[in-house]
Parts: sequence; structure tokens; C-alpha cells
Amino acid sequence: MVYICAAIIQREVNMSFEKLGLHNSILSTLSQLNFEKPYPIQTEAIPAAIAKKDILGIAKTGSGKTASFVLPILHNIIQDAPNKNRHINALIVVPTRELAIQVHEVLTSFSRQLPRRVKTMAVYGGVSINPQMMKMNGVEILVATPGRLLELIENKALYLTSVKTLVLDEADKMLNLGFKDEMDRILGLLPKKRQNLLFSATLSEGIQDISRVLLHDPITIKIEAKEDNIELIKQKAYGVTEERKGPLLRYLIKTNNYKQILIFASTVYKVDNVADKLRKNGINAQAIHAKKSQKARTAALSDFKNGHLKVLVATDLLARGIDIEFLPCVINYELPRSPKDYVHRIGRTGRAESPGDAISLITPEEQHHFRVIQKKMKKWVDMVESDEIDLHGM
Ligand code: AMP
Repeated sequence: MVYICAAIIQREVNMSFEKLGLHNSILSTLSQLNFEKPYPIQTEAIPAAIAKKDILGIAKTGSGKTASFVLPILHNIIQDAPNKNRHINALIVVPTRELAIQVHEVLTSFSRQLPRRVKTMAVYGGVSINPQMMKMNGVEILVATPGRLLELIENKALYLTSVKTLVLDEADKMLNLGFKDEMDRILGLLPKKRQNLLFSATLSEGIQDISRVLLHDPITIKIEAKEDNIELIKQKAYGVTEERKGPLLRYLIKTNNYKQILIFASTVYKVDNVADKLRKNGINAQAIHAKKSQKARTAALSDFKNGHLKVLVATDLLARGIDIEFLPCVINYELPRSPKDYVHRIGRTGRAESPGDAISLITPEEQHHFRVIQKKMKKWVDMVESDEIDLHGM
């Protein structure tokens, strides 16, 4: 197994996308999209993936990992003629619907100047299956959540027997969400000889087990320093009573000049409640959680991503994988139970090399748990008592 710790590789400095061997049509799109230099994960993963090697990538969203598998897949696919109809060539499996949509957007943006048309599609549950079955004609690269993928296969809408490249994105999250049985069924339908690209935020025991079974002589790429991007995130906490949390939240939104804010709360009820109160106070806010329809989830996230929505209030559904460009601020209205989720949440800001603020509102009851989180994170956060702040009229 070859280990590469991209963070310490000096040749990054002079690296360019040209040197990675990508097709000219892709290079010209990259330059139009202002991708000037490859990120470390891309420098390591792209040439290996073009050479059809298996890869184990330990990296979080924000590291540029999506392009590190999307670009070589596109590069390789345009060298071949399309497979038989409904026999997809590359399969990208992701844990959430939002991530499926996001990865597909990246695929689409990099596909616009290819020398031949490559049809791509994202499929996920929570929406009607029929239109997806109909549109499957001619698809070569598919992004899918596990359950809907299996449903489509059962309906003979697609076949996995010609898949040349499999990507498992956010594989640790898939394990946590209990997708193991579905993943085993999917793996059983794939041809034995294929390329496997596995990406995970952490190298847990579960991931090591999967890699041993799935990957052949892989290149392992670990993006260490940027992993939490923690240095780019300015963390701050306010001590506050439960009754003053709502007014303090509105005070922070109104007095800081953040272009956009992502707020996390723990339960569906609380998320709805916080968003309702913000709207009643004249702040443009929407809620996103698992009990919302897929249509509402997609609309809220897309409004937030394109800047039409100022405040998005979410459960941990949005803590992982979702990339929001230049998000300046994340607020923890309530703390997550797991310290890992805290790091994932605040990691929605301070992404792609632009700084951000992460603010946590801490009641006396949450103080002990907040200390546990800081200890695990190995970073102490300044706590300001909010009693002195005048919240009158908030
Ligand atoms: P990802 O980790 O794939 O979600 O990517 C995080 C963000 O970085 C996305 O907004 C990408 O568009 C952006 N990005 C990825 N690679 C590059 C690059 N080489 N140059 C500039 N931006 C990039």
C-alpha cells in the first residue's frame, strides 16, 4: 500500500492541472471555472485515478475531493464509446439526497466542453421513481443514494454489470447511517474487475475493514491539516440562559453583517421553531430537516446556495458533505451530542480557503458537554457571558 500525506508534499507549490494529464477540454473548463491550481487531494488522486488505480481518500468536504474523483472519471470515460443502453459506466454512491444533487452539479459543471456528450444523472429517494426510470436511457455516470439505486435496479431501469469505476463518497457516514446491507447488495451486483475510489472523513475500523475487502493495492491519500480547516474558523461561544437564546440569536444576526448564516439545532421541532421565530422577526429564514418534503429540502438548499436565502436552520442532516461557497458564519443554537458532529457542523464555514465564524450558544446545562467537545477537538473556545448584552427589542 502506498501512503501519501498530501499536506507535506512540497511539489504542490508548482503543481498545475496540465501536469496531472487531464484532457484539454477539461482543462479549458477548469480555467473558466477559476480552478487555477489543484488542491493537494487532486494532485495525488487525479493521476492515480486516471491510471485506474484504487484509491482510499481520507478527506472531508472542503478539501476538493469531489473534483478529485469527478475529473478523472470524465477524462477516462471520453476515451471510450458509451456502454450498452442502461449499462452505466461509473457509479458514485453517496449517503444523502443533498449530496447526490451536489455531486451531480459538480459533474455537470465539468462536463460542459467534453468532446462527446456524456449523460449523467442523480437519483435519490423521497421523489417519484418513474421520471428517474424514464430518464435513465443513455446515462453513463450515475450519482445515487443506496436505497433508490437498488429500487431502480429491481425495476430493471439500469444494470451494474458494466461499471468500470465505483466511488463511495462519505463512506463513513454511509456506515453510520446503517447502509451496510444495502451496500453489500450493491457490491454483489458489480463486476469483480473494476476501479474503486473510496472517500471517508475518518479512517475508522469499519472503513479499514471495507477497504481491505474492496480495494486492491490502493493508493492511500490522507489530507491531514485541512481536515478540520479549524485554523480558518474563528470559534466563539456565548453563555446564555435558555429564555434569552432566541433574542441573542436575533441580536447576533442583526448586529453582525454576515451575508449568510447556517444555524444548527438538534431536533426537527426546534429547527422549525427557530426558523418560524426568525421569520416573525423579519429575518429571511427557512428550515431544513428530514421531515420536510424532498422538494422543500432541495428548494431551501438551492435558495441558500445561490444567495437568495439569508438564514438556513438545519438539523445535522446538513452537517456533513454539503459545500456552501463562502459561507461566513455557522451558529450552533444547540450543541450536537457528538463532538465529531460539532466539528462537521462548524466545518461548513472556513471552507475552500476562505475564513468563517462559528458561534455556539451555551446554556449552563450545556457547559459541561461543551467542555467535552473542546477537549476532544483539542482546541479551547473563548466564552463570553451574554448577560450584559442589551437584548431589548430583539
Ligand atoms: P469539495 O471538498 O469537493 O466539496 O470542494 C470544496 C470547494 O472547493 C468547492 O466549492 C469546490 O468548487 C472548490 N474547489 C475544489 N477544488 C478547487 C480548486 N482546485 N480550485 C478552486 N476551488 C476548488
